[in-house]
Amino acid sequence: MHILEEKKSKTMNEHYPFENPPLPYAYNALEPYIDEKTMHLHHDRHLQTYVDNLNKTLAPHPELTDKSLLALVSCPLCLPSGLQIPVRNNAGGVYNHIFYFSNLTPNADMPIPSPLKEQIDEDFGSYGEFQTKFKEAALSVFGSGYAWLVKEPGGRLSIFLTKNQDTPLPANLFPLLNIDVWEHAYYLKHYNVRADYIDDWFHVVNWEQVNQNFRQIP
Ligand code: MN
Repeated sequence: MHILEEKKSKTMNEHYPFENPPLPYAYNALEPYIDEKTMHLHHDRHLQTYVDNLNKTLAPHPELTDKSLLALVSCPLCLPSGLQIPVRNNAGGVYNHIFYFSNLTPNADMPIPSPLKEQIDEDFGSYGEFQTKFKEAALSVFGSGYAWLVKEPGGRLSIFLTKNQDTPLPANLFPLLNIDVWEHAYYLKHYNVRADYIDDWFHVVNWEQVNQNFRQIP
């Protein structure tokens, strides 16, 4: 078992057949920063499609149906070669979206709790410097992908970028927070202005949850 596996939420430990967990808040709860229609489409259509396609991919493979979501995304290369790409894309799509939604909150502009606050100050200088660097990184994702706040094996926090539905887990980086910068995450409200979406997204980060993620680190 992956060392992180026992530490993660129940959802991440579920096995085939995977389900789309409800949002932990109302669809309109992140207004005015992230709009209700985007949340409906993002959760009910985009995430649902990844869940459905992951289940279709695994259905003919009973030997894999006891694998947790975290196990699937942590090592796509451990799977038979024909399954590596569909699992990487679809298990990644499920993991990344559940993680993204779980790290947002209607309680806007939440202060960063300890001990995460001190770790951000230590590794980035200040929250302001972290925010500047994270925004630059999220803007630099070419095409579709995510920017992540991760913990490195040595204990340091850093910013990591992934393409498509890849995750930081195969690189042995522990995810604390991610922003989805696929256009479907913001196009209805922010059109093509990803920078405005990133600014709005910062208001609804659930720093209590990110701090919990940080404290779960082995
Ligand atoms: Mn998305």
